[in-house]
Amino acid sequence: MAEKLYLYDTTLRDGQQTQGVQFSTAEKLRIAEALDALGVDYIEGGWPGANPTDSAFFEEAPASRAVMTAFGMTKRAGRSAENDDVLSAVLNAGTPAVCLVGKTHDFHVTAALGIELSENVANIRASVAHIVAQGREALFDAEHFFDGWKANAPYALECLHAALEAGARWIVLCDTNGGTLPYEIYRIVAEVIAGGIPGERLGIHTHNDTENAVACSLAAVDAGVRQVQGTLNGLGERCGNANLTSLIPTLLLKEPYASRYDINVSRDALEALTQTSRMLDEVLNRVPMRQAPYVGSSAFAHKAGLHASAILKDPTTYEHVDPATVGNRRVIPMSNQAGQSNLRRRLAEAGLEVAPGDPALARILDEIKAREAQGYTYDTAQASFELLAREILGRLPSYFEVKRYRVTIERRKNKYDRMVSLSEAVVVVKVDGEKKLSVSDSLDNEGFDRGPVNALSKALAKDLGRYQSIIDDMRLVDFKVRITQGGTEAVTRVIIDSQDGRGRRWQTVGVSANIVDASFEALLDSVRWKLIRDCGEGA
Ligand SMILES: [Zn+2]
Repeated sequence: MAEKLYLYDTTLRDGQQTQGVQFSTAEKLRIAEALDALGVDYIEGGWPGANPTDSAFFEEAPASRAVMTAFGMTKRAGRSAENDDVLSAVLNAGTPAVCLVGKTHDFHVTAALGIELSENVANIRASVAHIVAQGREALFDAEHFFDGWKANAPYALECLHAALEAGARWIVLCDTNGGTLPYEIYRIVAEVIAGGIPGERLGIHTHNDTENAVACSLAAVDAGVRQVQGTLNGLGERCGNANLTSLIPTLLLKEPYASRYDINVSRDALEALTQTSRMLDEVLNRVPMRQAPYVGSSAFAHKAGLHASAILKDPTTYEHVDPATVGNRRVIPMSNQAGQSNLRRRLAEAGLEVAPGDPALARILDEIKAREAQGYTYDTAQASFELLAREILGRLPSYFEVKRYRVTIERRKNKYDRMVSLSEAVVVVKVDGEKKLSVSDSLDNEGFDRGPVNALSKALAKDLGRYQSIIDDMRLVDFKVRITQGGTEAVTRVIIDSQDGRGRRWQTVGVSANIVDASFEALLDSVRWKLIRDCGEGA
């Protein structure tokens, strides 16, 4: 009979302690929704009272299957748990579970808190008891636990017992500084269990300062803990927390974990793991890490010619798991023999059947290489990839031609003496031999300025003659800008996500030294792709 192993996510709390990361409330809600769909058991939403977006998040958090958890600290010395305003703010978030961090390392009690060791134990006991008395599930985060154990094991254990006796459901052993190695984690967890804290009440919280956070978490599970804490993509303070994006597939796909433990992540959710990981990068506007285990775009990329040809015969020759199980895909660089068959597969996905050995394949590969050197990327911009291939194959219809465009940006004082911006775009296109001039400004329906690219996109989509009705249901859903290297120069790369009324979503790319040009290129690709889908190849 498999035992239940709980997953506790702290992306929204410890993950937010990453340098340069500050989630908005809307972003937190989006991440929480993804975590709930993934199947974690607990979502730690933040520290209410300490951070305004954390408080707002708890106010707006939708019902979730995962247990919503607020984070805070044990009451301060010299006041009762009932009268500690910091603790009250945490309870006021109204979450079913509350996780309180407290000290278990004697040195931190005397040096950082400046109180007696016994007073700290009493604070832990009173705080946990207060949470339980409010009818909440209590978790006790034992800060600096492993360092504390090495310095004074009896005292660290006394702190844990105080929390357990006061009714804590979970005692979480934290390697706060991230310096403990897996063998020490295993030994100390085993000693804690021998010291009377049952494994089914223990959790593990590790940091990646020696690149061992995942290994330390597994060591703790091996030693008997039944809750694992971590973050998506290993986000977190300094070098990050234990990476749930790596831990989850390992626990589900690898022995002895797969048959020994039940975790709440379904196979379907596992197949969405790569997507979930990319979603977080998108929120953070970060480039996804290529080498990320399981979900990175290189995780199943086979560059060596020998590997690539073996892979085509039998994938298990060079893959430890099937990429599809985690929603990733096999990549065989298109530059070699095996790459051509990969390219043909990608073309077939776009409805373009090309015979093996067709010389056009080599021309497409050369063009992709040359473009990537200029700063383009076709990993996700499948629509732009298709247009490029069509052009080389002579299968790109010319529905319309852009003769010229112009954008002006104005910034001036309005009648209320406030600085306002307004952009205006003019686009001239030739459709069916007829020139059409469209003008649009950058204001949305509420009168807010949406910038020059918005003006341009509206002008482009304003009058395309007989194609107009086809693009009417198109809408720009995301727009990402990145400065990247194009040859020896820095260039701007724009990636646009578009969607239509039929629920299709596609991605296009544009590159230029000029952000408006790059945006226009991606916009044009987006419109052309849509026309191919809905008008076919006959222009
Ligand atoms: Zn931490």
